[in-house]
Amino acid sequence: MRKLILAIAMVLPFIGMAVPANAIQIRTLYYDTSQAQEFAGDWDTAAANWNKSVTDVRMVKRGANTPVNVRIFADNGWPRTYPGSLGSGTVYMGREAVNEGFYRPRIATHEFGHILGLPDNRTGRCSDLMSGHSAPISCKSDLPSPAEAAQVQRNFQNGLVPSTVNVTVYVD
Ligand SMILES: [Zn+2]
Repeated sequence: MRKLILAIAMVLPFIGMAVPANAIQIRTLYYDTSQAQEFAGDWDTAAANWNKSVTDVRMVKRGANTPVNVRIFADNGWPRTYPGSLGSGTVYMGREAVNEGFYRPRIATHEFGHILGLPDNRTGRCSDLMSGHSAPISCKSDLPSPAEAAQVQRNFQNGLVPSTVNVTVYVD
């Protein structure tokens, strides 16, 4: 019996070492622009915008052998996001907003914001990415605010994934 206890005592420290409590896991999300039509470049800009704003999640254009986390389409409606679990879903660039004059890279970065777990927040401020079309059409800011970037960092901290998504679609 004493021998068994000793064996367990020796194993435990190694279990502790194998999974450091403060390990940072960077999640990679693959997005697919093959059906984005004329807006593919705007989604690449949106991915770059997030990649220079946060560090816990990376947005990478899909390759031949990668999974697809974010599907991208375009139609004549309003831009929108159908979120799945955090870091996945389907986004649409909508020509209705583009034709009204809203800035395409800001729209795309906003929709990716929903994929990254941010809700709409219609403050009317151009400096808030998630204010969407409550900001003026003249708004060309396509980066998240520091608060929005911090929220995404928290959403993806240590690979933690919220278990539920409460919305079926964000239209904006
Ligand atoms: Zn929105």
